[in-house]
Amino acid sequence: MIQLHDLFFKKFISETEINLAVNGVAVQINDDYKKKSPVFLIVLNGAFFFASDIIKKFDGNCEMCFIKVASYEGTQSSGEISTVMGVEPSLKGRDVIIVEDIVDTGNTIEAIIEILRQEEVKSYRIASLFYKPKAYTKDQKIDYVGLEIENDFIVGYGLDYNGLGRNLNDIYKLKQLKMKNIVLFGPPGAGKGTQAEVLKEKYQLVHISTGDVFRYNIKNETELGILAKSFMDNGDLVPDEVTIDMLKAEVVKNKGAKGFIFDGFPRTNSQAKALDMFLSDMGEGINGMVALEVPEDLLVARLLKRGETSGRPDDQDESKIRNRFNEYETKTAILKDYYEAQEKYYGVDGVGSIEEITERLCVVFDTF
Ligand code: AMP
Repeated sequence: MIQLHDLFFKKFISETEINLAVNGVAVQINDDYKKKSPVFLIVLNGAFFFASDIIKKFDGNCEMCFIKVASYEGTQSSGEISTVMGVEPSLKGRDVIIVEDIVDTGNTIEAIIEILRQEEVKSYRIASLFYKPKAYTKDQKIDYVGLEIENDFIVGYGLDYNGLGRNLNDIYKLKQLKMKNIVLFGPPGAGKGTQAEVLKEKYQLVHISTGDVFRYNIKNETELGILAKSFMDNGDLVPDEVTIDMLKAEVVKNKGAKGFIFDGFPRTNSQAKALDMFLSDMGEGINGMVALEVPEDLLVARLLKRGETSGRPDDQDESKIRNRFNEYETKTAILKDYYEAQEKYYGVDGVGSIEEITERLCVVFDTF
């Protein structure tokens, strides 16, 4: 398994199978075109390995020309095609073989064919190393196909994910994360714990609240509890090393879980990085940070009210509550940027009834 940016890919088609497929296409094109002096129109960037390998096997005279259009955004075909580099010189009256790495929805091919029509070419055919019949939405026949594949996102042999992976000699396909791992985020009193209780049932996930684990340890007077107590009672954060080790132990304890709702973790940048590394070692990752957004005044009122019954020392005194907000503002709130940079931040309005807020959260959870 390999990692490119934030995603994992597993080996799918070997170099040997690719070579066989490439040879198959090369032989057919050679037979059909060796007396015709065709122009190979190579679609950049992905098709450059494929084009190179088939053109090297071409016996007759031929020319090459390049075109660059953009259609992919991340792992989804966006449908919007823009020409980044057009054909030069003119292809008027020529027999053209379009060389593509992969035909997916067909939007790119359709846009290129339109360009060739305007160029008034004599004839055109399409050669593509990979073809996804289930994704293809056009009528235009793909004349030479190396391999048909399912609707998977693949990289290697020229194909990339946001720029990476082109140099791989085998083809890899996107590994769907097995787990649903969600960071439930928000300031103290935002309702994370309350919502997590409902969501863990609905989505069959394990809820890990670092605050609850600490409180359990304090109650049972464990070594960890004794260490954490002074920090917690004052509303300070417990040191990262302690918290990170504890979190990892909780995840390991629940091997086989369908996924986790992390509540109260991560709370610092180094905790977020440690969590990403830990999950990536397991071939997993965070699907998203879902943040409950609530104004501070409402939060203080909620926490003081909870303090009347929760027995939590950090809920009963306004100065401790303010300190927890201060910790949140200075160390934790920046995690929004951390997950936003990975396009994984989802803000949800946390004001309303419990049921209303659950509904809003479910809309986001359902997308994971
Ligand atoms: P909570 O129940 O999430 O409000 O957490 C209560 C307290 O537990 C916090 O004020 C911290 O003292 C401690 N705590 C919980 N989670 C963490 C964490 N991820 N990092 C450091 N301290 C934490």
